[in-house]
Amino acid sequence: MEQTGGPLTVCELELAPPGREEVLVRLRASGVCHSDYNAVDGTSETVCPAVLGHEGAGVVEAMGADVTRVAVGDHVALSWTPWCGNCEECSRELTQLCSTVWPAMGTGGLMDGTPRLSRDGESVYHYSFLSTFADACVVPERSCVPIAEDTPFDVAALVGCAVSTGTGAVWRTAGVRAGDRVAIVGCGGVGLSALLAAVAVGAEPIVAVDTAPQKLDVARSLGATDTVEWRGSAEATAEAVRKVTGGGVDYAIEATGRPEVMEAAFLSTRARGAAVLIGIPREGSELTIPALTIPRMERRVLGSIYGSTKPERDFAHALDLYRDGRLPIDRLISHRLPLEQAERGFELMHSGDALRVVLEI
Ligand SMILES: [Zn+2]
Ligand SMILES: [Zn+2]
Repeated sequence: MEQTGGPLTVCELELAPPGREEVLVRLRASGVCHSDYNAVDGTSETVCPAVLGHEGAGVVEAMGADVTRVAVGDHVALSWTPWCGNCEECSRELTQLCSTVWPAMGTGGLMDGTPRLSRDGESVYHYSFLSTFADACVVPERSCVPIAEDTPFDVAALVGCAVSTGTGAVWRTAGVRAGDRVAIVGCGGVGLSALLAAVAVGAEPIVAVDTAPQKLDVARSLGATDTVEWRGSAEATAEAVRKVTGGGVDYAIEATGRPEVMEAAFLSTRARGAAVLIGIPREGSELTIPALTIPRMERRVLGSIYGSTKPERDFAHALDLYRDGRLPIDRLISHRLPLEQAERGFELMHSGDALRVVLEI
């Protein structure tokens, strides 16, 4: 992408060899995520020109100095939250909030703030340390999680963003237990991943909310017990959720990033319930919620980035459940396209007809 607003174009770039604690990964699959589009439409400010894509899997092809976590030939799923291991957040085991990584991500470089991509001697920037809309990428070794060789690359790619963001919000951020009442508000790839996680732990009922009836049909086929089509306002939608759940949910998982949808999630909760906010809003957005109900009903708002995931632990767990048939990640993939058609992937994403689009590389 040459500049914010797009379009995406295919071109040849130079990729520097991996530096210290970095590896070169030959990519095999990359999911198309709404956060990539946030870079296109300017919701997330992105340094350009940039190679987008942050949901990938492939094979380690070369290593820089001091790499210890992976070896050449390893199949890996990629995580967009490497961590420094030294900051206050890392010392509290909140590696997804690493205070070194987040500023580095904003530079469009790798951990040291400089890019490995260039064209005719001019810098080209990374997206979320990964840049998976490409044949190959140089990434921090802590972005690589080895996976079994028989894991399909498209499934592993999804674990790198949508699946971990959605399942982690349910399992890690919220800690949903069997019998908890759950609403999934927004049924894209992340929301449906949260739905699969809620089904896997035995939450009940699970109500899916979306504007698109076809997405609600999919949600039902994946285990939602009830569905609510968006009613035009936060209050009307929440009222419908409260009605079908006998008074509201314990956890309303919000996966759109739109303030009125976040409000609907909050208003869908019952006493002691929590809105779990995953979707990324535009910078400067504000959320209005009825303050009195927070103490009076002990309602809560929980933020969740990357599902509070620890990739080394949680990627393997998600893939184990996939292998056992308890987390059918492959059912989230609706379209497979060649890398050159990434732009078409965004069109499909916006059409409402696609679940996850995967670029095969
Ligand atoms: Zn993503
Ligand atoms: Zn850190």
